[in-house]
Amino acid sequence: MNLHEYQGKSILTQYGVRVQRGLVAYNADEAVDQAKRLSQETGTKWWVVKAQIHAGGRGKGGGVKLAKSIDEVREKADGIIGMMLKTPQTPPQGKKVHKVLIAEDMYYPGASETKEYYMSVLLDRASGRNVIVYSTEGGMDIEEVAEHHPDKIQKEIIDPRVGLRPFQCNKIATNLGLSGAAKKEMVKFIAALYKAYEGCDAAMFEINPVLKTSDDKIAAVDAKVRLDGNALYRHPDYVEMRDKTEEDPTEVEAGEAGLNYVKLDGNVGCMVNGAGLAMATMDIIKLSGGEPANFLDVGGTADAARVEKAFRIILQDDRVKAILVNIFGGIVRCDRVAQGIVDAYKNIGDIKVPIIVRLQGTNAKEAKELIDNSGLKVLGAVALQEAADRVKEVLK
Ligand code: GDP
Ligand code: MN
Repeated sequence: MNLHEYQGKSILTQYGVRVQRGLVAYNADEAVDQAKRLSQETGTKWWVVKAQIHAGGRGKGGGVKLAKSIDEVREKADGIIGMMLKTPQTPPQGKKVHKVLIAEDMYYPGASETKEYYMSVLLDRASGRNVIVYSTEGGMDIEEVAEHHPDKIQKEIIDPRVGLRPFQCNKIATNLGLSGAAKKEMVKFIAALYKAYEGCDAAMFEINPVLKTSDDKIAAVDAKVRLDGNALYRHPDYVEMRDKTEEDPTEVEAGEAGLNYVKLDGNVGCMVNGAGLAMATMDIIKLSGGEPANFLDVGGTADAARVEKAFRIILQDDRVKAILVNIFGGIVRCDRVAQGIVDAYKNIGDIKVPIIVRLQGTNAKEAKELIDNSGLKVLGAVALQEAADRVKEVLK
């Protein structure tokens, strides 16, 4: 589950990580009020108006603006709220901005005395351990740094048996070129950041930039936080941070129906029971010249209601030219699923795309007969190759 910057920062604050402070506003009037309130709390004289959307690169897209007066806060907030913000991480048409964060300016008194770093915490799948990735080249596109100066990105792997050790925090701060008070601050920052990462069951933290201010404070100016959805039950207070308006509406609908659905860009929809088989089915679609339009795991109990819901979700995508249903009947009986497909087809009515159904396992024969005799535009297949060939045929 992805969070907004302001939500991520609130979690960091709970764990004692210093952040660039800010208050959320939904319109220009609120922005002005929040700016005044923030100045009372922090003494800041300038403000940064920051679009809150689930995507990075907002600065480049015009979603982060410095305001040097209250009038400018109003003007900038008015311009950003409601805009379609386009960044390299949004869909091509951009994302609509519903709210902004009015943040304190931390780059006082001059940019020459501040320094931006990059730091993220995530799971390193190769070693199966958490890793802190960091760089002196913060603030900018880290992907670009990775491509042109891979030597400027460093990693510190954490042993889960002992956790993050103080010497590791020291080493990172030293490698970042810090000394004196700033180094001490950085060591504290890293320890608190890692504690927050573990404490909230995060899947990823990306802090870009981590800022050294002109008076040697270290703070998270940005916060990209992804929580592990499977651990959310341990954090009931984080559940309400979910912003469904930032997610794909079809994925939200599928999730509510208990379906594992991920929208993709292809032309062949697929409905499968089991995640492994779903991935193999996507491979088959590609091998037969198509592109999968989605990943969809209907789960172990592919009953008629679920099958119908799954069809309706796949059919919402008008790029879909064919649907491949691939069900392995282990506990579930294939003829039951087949009946579910026939019923769903009749209930939905007006399905224009061909449907290829491959059912294998318990009662597969009966299931194929049921499909073949249904009189519907549904093509039955028993072998995987047969199903793939039929996808190829209908795509022609
Ligand atoms: P992103 O573009 O979505 O990654 O958003 P960030 O929160 O990282 O902000 C983008 C850029 O805005 C930063 O890299 C800074 O250069 C600038 N910025 C952020 N906060 C401040 C601030 O307090 N003062 C000034 N002058 N610039 C800021
Ligand atoms: Mn950033």
